Amino acid sequence: MLDAMTSRPRPEPFRYEERVPPGERRQFRAEVGENYLGDTVEIPVTVVNGVGEGPTIFFTAAIHGDELNGVKVVQEIATRYDPEALRGTLVCLHVCNVPAYEAQQRYTPIYDQDLNRAFPGKGRSTTTERMASKIYHRFIRPCDLGIDFHTSTRNRTTIYHVRADLENEDANRLARSFGANVMLTGSGDAGSLRSVATSADIPTITVEMGRAHRFQPVLIEKALDSVESVFAEYDVLPGRPVHWPGWYKITTPESAKRWLRADIGGLVDMEWGPYPLVRADEVICRITDHFSTKEDVVRAPFDGLIVGALENPVAAPGHPVCHLVRLDETTVEEIEREIDRGEFDGYRRYGHRWAAE
Ligand SMILES: [Zn+2]
Repeated sequence: MLDAMTSRPRPEPFRYEERVPPGERRQFRAEVGENYLGDTVEIPVTVVNGVGEGPTIFFTAAIHGDELNGVKVVQEIATRYDPEALRGTLVCLHVCNVPAYEAQQRYTPIYDQDLNRAFPGKGRSTTTERMASKIYHRFIRPCDLGIDFHTSTRNRTTIYHVRADLENEDANRLARSFGANVMLTGSGDAGSLRSVATSADIPTITVEMGRAHRFQPVLIEKALDSVESVFAEYDVLPGRPVHWPGWYKITTPESAKRWLRADIGGLVDMEWGPYPLVRADEVICRITDHFSTKEDVVRAPFDGLIVGALENPVAAPGHPVCHLVRLDETTVEEIEREIDRGEFDGYRRYGHRWAAE
């Protein structure tokens, strides 16, 4: 709608069952189902509707109930922006899978279902599909773009990276403006929020950051900076700079990426670090049996970046110990320069713990 006086587009209210007019922040709980007691299950939602015209952006966390870094990021986004200063609308779904969050586990406790394979959901199907349907139709459909926050699954950790369909022009713009150094391209798994929303013309990226069951402040701050970079790109916060990354690596699920696995059972000693950059043939970890009679040495098959690693230090044969992405010499050199300048410290491994704390 155009404003008669200025002929600029006028912002619209955000509508779900109710409406949030421009200039308002509203915090409420939205019913998405019932538990065994017949009590309603509600997700906490914040809508911040800016006074200026701009995109409607959703932020989702805890679609997997034990992935907490994003919950903190969304809490911050929900409170730190004044609707008077914003162009556009922020739709913050603080905890999407409430039953899984209450149990502090990845999947919905009822039949162990994955909410991130259930979108767009069905109103007359399983508990998880019904929950997905309510979330999707009320809050995701009215948006123009979205960011879904995840972490690695338990016992592992992952480097800060974005997953997006970079072949899709709009998703590509969103992913690049987020400014992560590592981007994994692909259309995403069937039923995931990212793939379903992106195919419905709501370009969506997934952010993977660190470990489950933790708040990792360095990663949380990094994500908040990335969100501001997206706001700059889409003019949600006018006059701010977009943070383009100094180097970036795009990889696909199939190519140039390898899970290195244990060949014996035993104790895992990680040797790489403190930075997740390894040269070909460098020792990544050693696996020994309890009598120290057997040893399996896992070496880097090529120059690469460790993007995922085992955290629980015991392994059985076939266990993934490390996820490695191949790097070309130019990227290796750029990362080495960042290490020298102290700009790569967000990716350091401290002692036996990996990823920034
Ligand atoms: Zn997840």
